[in-house]
Parts: sequence; C-alpha cells; structure tokens
Amino acid sequence: MCANRAGSQIDMPLPSFLSDIFADPFYWKIVFGGSAVALTSLLLFSIPYTVIAVLDPPSLRKYKIQTAEQSARDQSTAGQKVIPALANMIVNYALSIVVTTLAWPVLKKIGPTDDPAAAPTALVLIGSIVFCMVVEDAYFYVLHRTLHHPWLYGRLHKWHHQHRTPIALTGAYMHPLEQQLILGGLMLPIIVLRAHSITFFVWLFVRNWDTAEAHSGYDFPWNPTRLIPGYDPSFHDYHHSYFNGNYASLFSFWDRIAGTIAPGYEQYLSQHRFKNDKSTASSAASTTATTTTTTTSAADKSD
Ligand SMILES: [Zn+2]
Ligand SMILES: [Zn+2]
Repeated sequence: MCANRAGSQIDMPLPSFLSDIFADPFYWKIVFGGSAVALTSLLLFSIPYTVIAVLDPPSLRKYKIQTAEQSARDQSTAGQKVIPALANMIVNYALSIVVTTLAWPVLKKIGPTDDPAAAPTALVLIGSIVFCMVVEDAYFYVLHRTLHHPWLYGRLHKWHHQHRTPIALTGAYMHPLEQQLILGGLMLPIIVLRAHSITFFVWLFVRNWDTAEAHSGYDFPWNPTRLIPGYDPSFHDYHHSYFNGNYASLFSFWDRIAGTIAPGYEQYLSQHRFKNDKSTASSAASTTATTTTTTTSAADKSD
C-alpha cells in the first residue's frame, strides 16, 4: 500500500503475479466456475436428503441406514447440524479458492484444459469419469486411512467424525486442511488425464453426489445409484457409526484388497441391505457394536 504526495488517494496495486492470474479468463472459469459447480451440486444433492433427515417422516424411517439405537449415540439432532455444516462449507470453499488461486500458475500448466482437441465424446466422458472415480477413491482410501492415525485423527479428522449419524450436509463438514487434502485428490485424475474442462465440471458434479448420498443416512430401494457395481451408501455411513475400517469413499474394493472392511460390516450388509428390516439390522448393529467398542473408544480418545 502507498499514498500519493497529496495524500488524497491510496493505491493498492496487486502483485504482478495476481494481476496476471486475474487477467486470465480460464482462471475464472476453472477456479470460480469450478467452485460454483461444486457448491451448487453439493447443495442440490444435499438439501433434499437434509430436509428428509430433519423432518424425519415416519414413512421413510424404514429406509434409514442407522437404527434409532445407533442414532441415539450422536449428541446432536439432524436440525442442529445444519447451520454449523453450512458455515464450515463457506469457510472451506473460500479457502479452496485461495489455495487454487495461489496454485494457478502450476494448475494452468498441468490441470484442466480448454483445448478443443481434448473435448470428450460421450463415451470418452463416461470412461474418464469412471477413471476419476477409481483413482480418486484410491487416493481417498490412503488419505483417509492415514487420517485415522491417532496423531492426525485428533488434530484433523475428528472434526468430520463429530457426527456419528451424518446427514448429507455434513459430508463436507471437516477441518479446512482436510478439505484441501481432499481437493488434491479431486484434481489428481484430472491432472493425469489432462482432462477437458467439461470433464472437470462433470467430475465435480459426480463427486459431490457421492459426498451427499454417502452421508445422507438413507438407503432407498428405488435409488438408481444402487445399479453402480460396488457402490453402497451404507458403506461410509457404517464408518461414521463405528470409526474403524471402510476407509474408501465410493467403492468397497480398495478396502477388500487391503483387508480393512470394518468388523461386522458384511454381516450388517447381508442382514440389512435391500431388506430395510430394522429388527434384523438392529440385531446386527448390536452385535457389531459389541465387537467394535474397544477400537471406537480408542479413536475417540486419540486427541
Ligand atoms: Zn474417518
Ligand atoms: Zn464422512
């Protein structure tokens, strides 16, 4: 900041590297356009699920993933989670814009492109999104499992685990640093593919569907996402309920390969999924709760 001799004006010239960034239309498209797509899709998928969770209509309770007994262990109701989740979302998205702005000179060279030659056909787009899902899921698995190290859990990841019974909006409720680490995973397959901006925006849309649905707390039998092989909305919900295992986000196969399927999850799945029978689910959950009490307590005390 500097003042002119008359002292009547204050000039605040932007650093030249910021001026160059702000003069680049592609920066606005990717950073602000990408943030708008991400935030819109997250809210689009989260709000209907959140309304259902807050209203808790009796007719839909049979589709809840967690039993009333499991939900009772959460210290806050669905309604009490909404405002903190929205506030955290605003802070984290603002920080993400700052981080991607500072990283733009590199991101522009290795990130999404607007080269017409890279514009995807429908088939290439579908293949690229599947690639993004698998690669990001592997990254998320490694990151998430690392975040459960006691030192990191207490300092970072415990924020996200405040909610043993998540709602869709709390899918993005996390420590700001964890949000940036997850953002790195979102960008990884886009960088590997040097993907077109269309692919980038579709990928953000798809990934935020997963964030919302995996934390929604509901498993509806008519949900078309049940057709996705290896995908199950109760997979990550179970992780929130019992803390250990089920570290991947989208699919279960990385946990199956690494042998980190949560204790009791297979039993829970076989008795609960597609049946929505709370009596059998409750029985399975009770059994699982007994087997995981020790490890859960250890995670709780990690800070
Ligand atoms: Zn976790
Ligand atoms: Zn989660």
